[in-house]
Amino acid sequence: MRESPVITVVGAGLAGAEATWSLVRLGLRVRLLEMRPVKMTPAHHTEGFAELVCSNSLGGEGPANAKGLLQAELRAAGSLIMEAAERFRVPAGAALAVDREQFSAYITQKISSHPNVEIVREEVTDIPEPVAVLATGPLTSDALAEALRRRLGENFLYFYDAAAPVILGETIDMEKCFRGGRFEQSPDYINCPMTEEEYRRFYEVLTQARQHTPHEWENLRFFEGCIPIEELARRGYLTPVFGPLRPVGIVDPRTGKEPFAVVQLRQEDREGRLWSLVGFQTGLRWPDQKKVVQSIPGLENAEIVRYGVMHRNTYLNAPKLIRETLELKDVSGVFVAGVLAGVEGYIESAATGFLAGLNAGRLALGLEPVVPPPESMLGALVRFLATAEPKNFQPMSANWGLVPAIESKMDKRAKREAMFHRGLAAFQSWLSQIQSLA
Ligand SMILES: Cc1cc2nc3c(=O)[nH]c(=O)nc-3n(C[C@H](O)[C@H](O)[C@H](O)COP(=O)(O)OP(=O)(O)OC[C@H]3O[C@@H](n4cnc5c(N)ncnc54)[C@H](O)[C@@H]3O)c2cc1C
Repeated sequence: MRESPVITVVGAGLAGAEATWSLVRLGLRVRLLEMRPVKMTPAHHTEGFAELVCSNSLGGEGPANAKGLLQAELRAAGSLIMEAAERFRVPAGAALAVDREQFSAYITQKISSHPNVEIVREEVTDIPEPVAVLATGPLTSDALAEALRRRLGENFLYFYDAAAPVILGETIDMEKCFRGGRFEQSPDYINCPMTEEEYRRFYEVLTQARQHTPHEWENLRFFEGCIPIEELARRGYLTPVFGPLRPVGIVDPRTGKEPFAVVQLRQEDREGRLWSLVGFQTGLRWPDQKKVVQSIPGLENAEIVRYGVMHRNTYLNAPKLIRETLELKDVSGVFVAGVLAGVEGYIESAATGFLAGLNAGRLALGLEPVVPPPESMLGALVRFLATAEPKNFQPMSANWGLVPAIESKMDKRAKREAMFHRGLAAFQSWLSQIQSLA
């Protein structure tokens, strides 16, 4: 009998563990390369697989929650991460939180004892031969990061995430904001104008907001041109007005004049459901960030779907480099998952691990790679990765702005529940379709 092919998986974090599980369930053999404990990352403390490096929460649960939909999809797909999470969950209100040690120990044991998995504890320093899954995460070792830069283009691998908050378009009050560009620019931006009094109130909230305290290894340095909004405010009352909030060339059609200050919002996705605040990269704590954003006229009820961050993070420019199937465009047969592929969050990393493993396995078996439907959260997330604007690409987490909207008079919660059930049904039917074709 012919032996099944061996697929390489690099990294045994959230994404790599789930990718390995997808592969062994297809009956394939896996060579799983993990550098810990031979070489540790600055954030991991153990040699266990799927170590949760910070919070022990996998996000909000239930049908009104975007991460809840992704969890439900993973559960339907037979995910190892979800199996461990269910077994070792701890009470956490509406969130799915786990006992991190038992969670990681269970996953490590399930993978290590699987007869089709060979575990190699070593640092990988180059892109592996196909078929392979790369899942080395936000703290990818320097040698591998350098190899990725060489092979994929030095402008397309980032080591640092300086992201502005992203908000849901439907929560912007367009009675107070207007579309338009600066001078002759096309009217692609949404502008939130401020009077001097409104700016003064905004400045007060901004200067009182508390900052996230970075770890020493995050080595926070500000690059001029990418300075956090709170740092600009610290430099002087009017510094933001001469920077990202400058009103020059932006005329409010309601007054025919330039406002005192303007916050501009830039479209993040093709459909125009997600908008980021231009020049608002920030390291403020999340509750404080929300207060600052909601102190901007027109954004009083804005829903933040991705908070701003300033931290070390290794990720690829997904829309330039990766297909919806998570295969690298320029290196056939090599799939990418987790934070390296441009997602943010534990559950998002596991979910892309599931898909990258599935597609790597299908390729090895001579089957076509697949993509979940756009109504599902995983399908929406990988479509975002492949089609987002490459120029300002920032990692993305699961959120309702990614899936097609439901036009109806239902209230917000009922709409989200409808999106949840629609997404899960579409995902389940996709799963049975691919299983019957395999
Ligand atoms: C400090 C920090 C805190 C975070 N906190 C949260 C949080 O609270 N909640 C949340 O949802 N998300 C959080 N994230 C974001 C993200 O969800 C997690 O980092 C998540 O673990 C990413 O999953 P991953 O599989 O992509 O990477 P990881 O889980 O980090 O797995 C990558 C694995 O690859 C290994 N590796 C790296 N380079 C090599 C190499 N060259 N050769 C072999 N192995 C290698 C690493 O040792 C690691 O085991 C945090 C990120 C960081 C950096």
